[in-house]
Amino acid sequence: MIVLSGGTGTPKLLRGLRLLMPDEEITVIVNTAEDIMISGNLVSPDVDTVLYLFSGQLDDTKWWGVKNDTFHTFQALKKMGLDEKLMIGDMDRAAHIFRTALMRNGMLLTEATEQLSLALGIKARILPMCDEKVDTMINTPQGLMHFQDFWVGAHGEPDVLDVRIKSIGRAKPTEEVLEALDAEENVIIGPSNPITSIGPILALKGMRKILSRKKVIAVSPIIGDSPVSGPAGKLMLASGFPISSRGVAECYGDILDTLVIDESDTANEKEFPVEAIRFDTMMTSVKKSEALAENILKLFRDIG
Ligand code: GDP
Repeated sequence: MIVLSGGTGTPKLLRGLRLLMPDEEITVIVNTAEDIMISGNLVSPDVDTVLYLFSGQLDDTKWWGVKNDTFHTFQALKKMGLDEKLMIGDMDRAAHIFRTALMRNGMLLTEATEQLSLALGIKARILPMCDEKVDTMINTPQGLMHFQDFWVGAHGEPDVLDVRIKSIGRAKPTEEVLEALDAEENVIIGPSNPITSIGPILALKGMRKILSRKKVIAVSPIIGDSPVSGPAGKLMLASGFPISSRGVAECYGDILDTLVIDESDTANEKEFPVEAIRFDTMMTSVKKSEALAENILKLFRDIG
C-alpha cells in the first residue's frame, strides 16, 4: 500500500493501517515542501512525524516531535539570545543532526531518511517526495513568507492572497518514489492539507499522470465547512477552492477513484466531480483509526 502523507491527519490513519498489515508492506510518500533549516540542521517536519510514528516515538498529543522529549538545548540557546523559530526537543534535534551530518557528507534526503529509518528500527518505507529543495511560500499583504513563518511565527493569522511552491518546476519524484508507484496499484491520499501537504506531491513532474492510472482513495481533511485542524481552509480558499469536502474533490480532480468524506458531512455528493462515500473519519482514538483504515481497505477490494 502506498500512502501520500503530510504531518497530522495522515499519520493518524497510518497508526490504524499498521494494525491491519505489516509495516514492510507500507510505503509512505511524504511532503517535504515545509522543510526548513534551524540552527544549521535540516528539519523535515512531515518526514519526522512519519518516522516517529513508525518508530513508536511520536508525541501523539501534538502529532509532531518525540513524546516525553526534553528541551534543554532549545532553552539554553534561548538564554544565549537565539530564539529558534520552531520549539525543537532534544531527541528530535538528534534526528535532525543525524540527517544533516549525512547530507553534508553527500547523501540525498532520500538516502539520509533511509539511514534514519534503519537507525530507528523502522520496517516501513518512508520516502521523501523529492530530493530537490522546494519551499511552500504563503503570499500575504505583508509579503511572501515561508510556510513555517506563516503558521508558527505568525500563528496563521495573516490574510492569504495565494500559495506558491517555490522551485517545484525543477523538482521531480525520486527514482525510489517512481519505483514504489510502479510496483503498487493502490494509493491512499490521507487526510492532510490538500494545498500545502498533498499539493506539492501532486505538483511534481508526472505525478498526476501516474496517479491517474492507479486506484486512488483520498480521505477529506475537511468536514462540513472547516478542517479538523490547521490552516487548510484558509489556504484552500486562497487557492480557489471552497472550504468543503467538495472543494477537496475539486482540488484532487480526476486522479481520484473515491473520496471518503465524514459521516456527519451534509454535502450533496451528487455535486462532486468524483464518487464520494461516507465513513466516520474522526480519528480520535487508535480504534477509530483502525476502523477507518479497514473501511478503506474494503473499498479497494470493492473497486476490484
Ligand atoms: P496542516 O496541519 O494543515 O499544516 O497539514 P497536515 O498535512 O499536517 O494535515 C492536517 C490535516 O489533517 C488538517 O487539514 C486536518 O483537518 C486533517 N485532520 C487531522 N485530524 C483528522 C481526523 O481525525 N480526521 C480527518 N478527516 N482529518 C483530520
